[in-house]
Amino acid sequence: MANIIKKGILSKGLRLPENKISESIPIRKLAIPEKVLILLQQHFGEPCNPIVARGDKVKTGQIIADSEKLFSSPLHSTISGTVTSVTKTLNPFANNIVSAVEITGDGEDNWIDLKPEPGVKNICDKLNEIYSDCLDKTQGKPLDLNESKGNSGELKNLWDMLKKAIEEIPNEELIKRIKNAGIVGLGGATFPTHVKLATTKKIDTLILNGCECEPFITADHRIMLEYGWQVLAGAYIIFKVISPEFVYIAIEDNKRDAIALFAKLIEDSGLGQKFRVVSLKSRYPMGAEKILIKNVIGKKVPVGKLPMDIGVVVNNVGTSKAVFDSLSTGTPLVEKVVTVTGDVEKPQNFLVRIGTPVKDMLSCCGELNTGKTKIIMGGPMMGNAIADLSFPITKAVSCILLKHFENIQEGNCIRCGRCVNICPMNLMPLIYAAYAKNSKYEVLPDYHINTCIECGSCAYVCPAGIPIVAYIKTAKSVLVGYGK
Ligand code: SF4
Ligand code: SF4
Repeated sequence: MANIIKKGILSKGLRLPENKISESIPIRKLAIPEKVLILLQQHFGEPCNPIVARGDKVKTGQIIADSEKLFSSPLHSTISGTVTSVTKTLNPFANNIVSAVEITGDGEDNWIDLKPEPGVKNICDKLNEIYSDCLDKTQGKPLDLNESKGNSGELKNLWDMLKKAIEEIPNEELIKRIKNAGIVGLGGATFPTHVKLATTKKIDTLILNGCECEPFITADHRIMLEYGWQVLAGAYIIFKVISPEFVYIAIEDNKRDAIALFAKLIEDSGLGQKFRVVSLKSRYPMGAEKILIKNVIGKKVPVGKLPMDIGVVVNNVGTSKAVFDSLSTGTPLVEKVVTVTGDVEKPQNFLVRIGTPVKDMLSCCGELNTGKTKIIMGGPMMGNAIADLSFPITKAVSCILLKHFENIQEGNCIRCGRCVNICPMNLMPLIYAAYAKNSKYEVLPDYHINTCIECGSCAYVCPAGIPIVAYIKTAKSVLVGYGK
């Protein structure tokens, strides 16, 4: 198809067993939880302060915590009910204590008065009706894309009307909506989206990240298949705000159905002049922002700089859908798609309210093989093991993985250089492990430890079983304490 560009590999990468066992399982809404715990720091930047107190009644979608700071993002109640506690809890990933609001539900899911953009909503209802036939949601397999109800003329009209309605909304209003909806990067980075979009730097390129390169995780793949046109419409909103020359929808070539769907959607929408699908080789960690930029447009983000410093903005496909929802339905970010997979009887892709305890999700996945398995929040490469199953889903989480990891005895470094050869950021992982092992953290900034994206590739290939990333994470948190 004319809208697809195929790319080779410009950077190093691992070929990992994919294990995408839930890729053809449709997204299923998880029942509204009885209780949620909303952490007040689940975005990059400043934590929020609670604006509710114990005993307050709240509705779904109501702002319960916010911050005056630019680098922050408001948090909303994800169920209706009563605030039963404003408390502190341990965030095991950041190894710090964070504030949190506990809400006990009333079982009614009573929403605030949502305010969709009036000109957009009607068009969306029609587009939804047409595209809903493009997917067989029972089998989770896309049908022949030509089977959508509308003819191409009708589709083009609707897309033209939608684009016009979006174009009529001032950028300030769009950014305000995105900020108030609490939208952050849903690929895991949780960078506040309104900050990215409010940049005054000249942006040439927008990349929509649909790579999802970690094994097992299928949440973004399902979002692309089941909400493809909404993802594209969200990308158009972002495109309208930052005015790039080109928009690339980057998808790894192990998701051919999503590649075909987006090529068709670009054709339907008449966006082919500026929008392209980029089919990338499936390699880990292709979805990491800086690696992705290098592979899509061949540019390198310098050490200590952000993509926007070289004229690039990257957004995850789930973020793009959330941006669109904030306009078309007025819905803030209260739920997200999370894959539950690995050693479970019934792997799932759940649409789950943020703040839901992990155990609520696991209880809907049939028999769990919990004997020797670890429960990981995230994928097998970058995720973190959790011991407490009442820990809540946050905006950063896309996967709960149950997996048995062999206990490997840590040996001595044999200086084989494999970790150096595989590192996609061209770092010296063996040095980090060696210095961190001896608590000599102060020298590590000189070796650019803060450039490490914690992808885990070095530890994966190390024949001595050295948990290099664990050493790197410890070193980074100690250095934060030193203010470095
Ligand atoms: S040093 Fe960091 S970026 Fe390099 S391979 Fe290891 S975890 Fe990945
Ligand atoms: S891969 Fe492991 S053994 Fe080889 S150089 Fe790196 S740390 Fe040492």
